[in-house]
Amino acid sequence: MKTTGMVRKFDSLGRVVVPAEIRHTLGYKDGDLMEILIEGDYVVLRKFQSSCMFCTNDNAEELHEFMGKKICTNCLKKMQNMI
Ligand SMILES: [Zn+2]
Repeated sequence: MKTTGMVRKFDSLGRVVVPAEIRHTLGYKDGDLMEILIEGDYVVLRKFQSSCMFCTNDNAEELHEFMGKKICTNCLKKMQNMI
């Protein structure tokens, strides 16, 4: 995990602004869905990915998570056949 040195205050509704510099660096755009995860004492935000990163298959039953990215069974099998 990398420290940015940036500190922001929660507002009365529990909202906190992710600085524009970070949003731009990570390619987050207005309207993007963010997934909220908890890792130990940390709250982690990441862009919500609801489909396979390779073929856009969005059947949740066929999606697996690999290194923080979603991949469908079909694409996973194609990758395994490459080895
Ligand atoms: Zn796929």
